[in-house]
Parts: sequence; C-alpha cells; structure tokens
Amino acid sequence: MKLAAKYTGFVHSIESLGTIDGPGVRTVVFLQGCPLKCKFCHNIDCAVQVKGDQLTVEKLAEKVLSNRSYWKSYNGSSGVKGGVTVSGGEPTYQPEFLCAFLAYLKNVGVHTAVDTCLVTKKEVIDDLLPYVDLWMTSIKHMDAEKHKFLTGSSNKTTLENLTYLDNNISKQEKKSQIRIRFLVVPGLTNSEKNIRATAEKVKSLKNIEAVEVLGYGSHGRYKWIELFGKYELEGVPDATEKDVENARKIFREYGIRLVSSED
Ligand code: SF4
Repeated sequence: MKLAAKYTGFVHSIESLGTIDGPGVRTVVFLQGCPLKCKFCHNIDCAVQVKGDQLTVEKLAEKVLSNRSYWKSYNGSSGVKGGVTVSGGEPTYQPEFLCAFLAYLKNVGVHTAVDTCLVTKKEVIDDLLPYVDLWMTSIKHMDAEKHKFLTGSSNKTTLENLTYLDNNISKQEKKSQIRIRFLVVPGLTNSEKNIRATAEKVKSLKNIEAVEVLGYGSHGRYKWIELFGKYELEGVPDATEKDVENARKIFREYGIRLVSSED
C-alpha cells in the first residue's frame, strides 16, 4: 500500500477526546459507510450513507494531531496513553484512505486502533497490518443464521478474517493485538450457548489483548426512525448491569482477560 497522502475519504465526524473507544484518551475518527446493517447499530447514519466531509489524509491528520497533547492525560489499565481510533461505520469500507491515514499516523509515532467488523478483503487486512496497534472487532453472534438476522450477513467472513488476522499478526515482528467486543443484546446475543461459543473462539486465538463486554442501548433509535421510519429492535430492552456482569462471568470462567471501555 502506498503511503502517499493523495487519498481522500468521507469522514462522518471526529470526537476529540474519546474515552470509550480504546485505551486512554483518544481522538476517534468516524468514517462513512459499512457493508453490514446491524439492527442494534447506534451509528446507522454513519453506516448507511457515504457522504460527509471529504478530507485528504493530510487534512484529517492535521485535525487529529491538534489533539495530541491531550492523549497522555489518562493512562488506562492497558498502559497505553491514548492515540487515535478509526471507527465508523466500517473504516475498511474506504481501504486505501484508511491505510494511508494510519501509515501517516504511525510515521509520526501515534498509537493506532481500528474498530472494524472485519468484513473486508484479506488483502486489506494485509495492507493495514503494519499500521495498526490494536484491532478492535466484535463477534456479533456465533450462529450464522442469528448473525444474519442481526446484521444482514452471515458471520463467515468475520470469523474467517479474525483467524486470518490472528495468524498474520503472529508472523509479524511487531505484534499488534486484538480486542474482541461482545455486545449483550438481551434475548438475542446473551444465551449461555452463544457466550460460551464466543469464549471458545477467543481462546483459539493467540493475539488477544482482552474481551470487552458492552451492553446494548437503544440510544440510536431516533436515527433509525429518521432514516427508515422504524426501529428494528423495538421492544428489546436495554442491557442491564446484571446482564453485562452475567456475560463477563462466563468469559472469566475461560480465563479470558476483560477490560472496560475506558481501558
Ligand atoms: S458493523 Fe458497526 S457500523 Fe456497521 S452496521 Fe454494524 S454496528 Fe453499525
């Protein structure tokens, strides 16, 4: 992948001081577009539209680097003192722009994270590997049919790419890590069977930093109503602390390290 800063990308928004998308205080860039349409998505406006501000890599880097002095203000339990997370939408939906942007950041010594569903080509993963310190991805459901119901697609690509990513990290000199996010959607993802299947998949991987268990909330509902006139998860309750803790307990049984959003 070329490092040229000639690429432009569609940027939905930038959060200067994010504390829930990776270790430490981070600047979070939300890129437009996504191949999935998850019913629980709270950024559905970002996922379904490819528009927003069109920026060059240099312009975007200039914007995020202006926050650099804040990144060291908090040290999460992982020991990483902030940096940049590229989220979305799905950041790999604009692969060349993403790669050039991350390469730019690594070149100036920034800790980088991507929040990705891994629904992309393997070549994109190859291209990104040298420039990503932390891969944040989610296993949305281990059952292919239920995954399709929740996201519009089978889990085949995500699970294959997760294994592919893990194997290729192992071959790298500079090791990046993978953080798995597990979203507790009451009655839809939090059966004991699904949590155990997820934990077993996690245990099969070699470069896991931790699992982060998150609770579903319906705070993105208004965006669905605005865009589509209805909310797909109407009637599904928000996850409670207890729901989240129940899932965490099962992951702990497998000896899996857990982190919270701030870590
Ligand atoms: S993969 Fe993420 S951004 Fe895309 S639809 Fe699902 S939750 Fe939203």
